[in-house]
Amino acid sequence: MTFVPPNALGPVARAGAGISKRPSVSFEFSPPKGPKSEASLWEAIRRLEPLNPTFVSVTYGAGGSTRDRTHRTVVRMLQETTLKPAAHLTCVEASRDEVDEVIRDYWAAGIRHIVALRGDPPGSLGGAYTPRADGYQNATELTAGIRAIAPFEVSVGLYPQIHPESPSVEHDIEVLKAKIDAGATRAITNFFFDIDGYLRFIDRIRKAGVTIPILPGIMPVSSFEGLSNMSQRIGVTIPGWLSNLFEGLDEDPETRKLVAASVATEMCARLSEEGFSDFHFYTLNRADLVYAICRVLGVRESDPQPTTEAA
Ligand code: FAD
Repeated sequence: MTFVPPNALGPVARAGAGISKRPSVSFEFSPPKGPKSEASLWEAIRRLEPLNPTFVSVTYGAGGSTRDRTHRTVVRMLQETTLKPAAHLTCVEASRDEVDEVIRDYWAAGIRHIVALRGDPPGSLGGAYTPRADGYQNATELTAGIRAIAPFEVSVGLYPQIHPESPSVEHDIEVLKAKIDAGATRAITNFFFDIDGYLRFIDRIRKAGVTIPILPGIMPVSSFEGLSNMSQRIGVTIPGWLSNLFEGLDEDPETRKLVAASVATEMCARLSEEGFSDFHFYTLNRADLVYAICRVLGVRESDPQPTTEAA
């Protein structure tokens, strides 16, 4: 069964009246490519900072290509903001020694939270992966490696439509359990649009005995074309209702934004109704959509962040 967006009197209307528990939010950014994108990234960070996110995370480019920029960005966040930054780290195309050096550098710089991922080979997102003999073989090994170096908080990735290389949901659940045994304390999901499918996926994980917080990854759709391309490469289904909503809006960015905010807010509101209160937003280094969505969900500048996460 696919998710049918509720009508105007659906969850958004109720969210406007106030969802009972203030949601916890976290925001994902990417390191800047140059001075211009650095300025817009920091504008976005400053705009979202007063919303008191549980944490913010900074991605690590394919094949470790943004190693220095990721490091610089998280350290600047730590030094110049009130945010709690988490650094993404991948083990693709690197030896254990090289990865361990990055981990130690993060610890020395004061970073206490790593999002541990295997990564994809550069230039072939979704393509075949060959681990290096002298490297960490996957995110489970990486998680153990991080925890062996220092008591970092470790978050890991999770795929509501299963990882493209995975044979089954059962396999992904076993992998998640292995990551938890290795020291992971939180999972963050890839973005998705089929809420009913997501709920079934989470039910199976919970029934398998997994109790760590699982944060649904929410992607506000700023460019439908960009989203379609990326989704195809990483195995995320774009439902027909979403394509219909964006049809004919290629040259109309203002309406696209309104539709995007509405879709993401409806998703969060529906998830809230289903008992979820933590949301991880893929910001794409822009604040406007995420800021608006958070406002509708009841997240305000003056509110203190709830102390516990629930899934
Ligand atoms: P893994 O968990 O290592 O899984 C990869 C494969 O190894 C799977 O087939 C799995 O079955 C197998 N495997 C893992 N552990 C075991 C085990 N214990 N036993 C048996 N098999 C095992 N990519 C980037 O390059 N940079 C980023 O910053 C980044 N951020 C991301 C953030 C999130 C929230 C998510 C969900 C993904 C992110 N990615 C990022 C993408 C990610 O690197 C790719 O999806 C990659 O293909 C898989 O990474 P993983 O950590 O899930 O891999």
